[in-house]
Amino acid sequence: MGKVVLVTGGSGLVGSALQHVINTEPRGSAYGAKEGEEWVFLRSKDADLRDFEQTRKAFEKYKPSYVIHLAARVGGLFANMAGNHTFLRENILMNDNVLQNAHDFKVEKVISCLSTCVFPDKVSYPLTESSVHLGPPHPSNFGYSHAKRLVDVQNQAYNAQYGDRFTSVIPTNVFGQFDNYDLRDAHVIPALIHRTYLAKQDNTPLTIAGTGKPLRQFIYSRDLAKLMIWALRSYEDIEPVILSVPEEQEISIKDVADAIVQATGFKGEVVYDSSRADGQFRKPASNAKLVKLMKESGSEPFEFTPFQQALKESVEWFVENYDKGAR
Ligand code: NDP
Repeated sequence: MGKVVLVTGGSGLVGSALQHVINTEPRGSAYGAKEGEEWVFLRSKDADLRDFEQTRKAFEKYKPSYVIHLAARVGGLFANMAGNHTFLRENILMNDNVLQNAHDFKVEKVISCLSTCVFPDKVSYPLTESSVHLGPPHPSNFGYSHAKRLVDVQNQAYNAQYGDRFTSVIPTNVFGQFDNYDLRDAHVIPALIHRTYLAKQDNTPLTIAGTGKPLRQFIYSRDLAKLMIWALRSYEDIEPVILSVPEEQEISIKDVADAIVQATGFKGEVVYDSSRADGQFRKPASNAKLVKLMKESGSEPFEFTPFQQALKESVEWFVENYDKGAR
């Protein structure tokens, strides 16, 4: 009988990218489904994972061998600041219900998703897997961060007591199709795509908060999806692994804006409002562990999609879907 891979949060940015990869990569290939394997993508209306009974019913229905746990209460800076308890509690409930059911139903492997924003506020760079718990997270999103850090603690405990193979990955900033493009709380790339689109439509200047100088690592959702499939097949540790482009591929906010201007065909003025805060100049994460393990597992070196191309594909998706509510 074929095995089931259950993906929670299957309708979100990362879940949709996983669906795309599984639907387009040939069966049996490095990032494709295995022969006889069935992939099930859950959305919140299939099961509210904050509820133990609904979560249990989903596990009972699909009897997964593997779980990729993406579902989370995710939000921008202001939503986090205003709702630290909500982010803490809802994520704790979802994570605990998914992991306990994965244990009860004897799931062979669970890959959960942490985030680079769970790292300590004061920490040395580059970020590595061993620094997750070395100090308190940034106060703005301490609820989300502690709930996510706890996943690593839960994974360690399930493994120590029962031998369960529950692990986690830490993606850097993700962007792509099906992102949250809502201007009230979108991350930097979807917000800039949306604002550039509107500036082009209204023939107004594009104003960017800050100097444009800070550097960040961005990962295309479809690349992240492939790396998560690699982790499902080949990553055997319980400790998290950072999934990111190399540190050398850090890119400035100005370069991001230039690429968006090019991809959207915006011809107006671009203004940098340096009276607005820049945030931290850089917070690079090391992907050395990923590169080393992929090599050891016999995988080809991973070819990240060139940033311009990934951005162009995201912009095209946004424009196509704007009228259908991609905002
Ligand atoms: P999205 O916000 O795009 O999607 C969230 C998903 O979680 C949706 O499928 C949503 O379902 C589901 N969900 C939310 N609440 C519930 C609930 N109560 N019960 C069941 N399902 C629920 O998230 P992303 O795809 O961006 O993130 C995926 C994972 O990656 C998360 O764990 C996130 O923390 C992590 N991550 C994301 C980063 C990013 O830049 N986006 C960076 C680093 C980590 P529905 O839409 O059907 O309501």
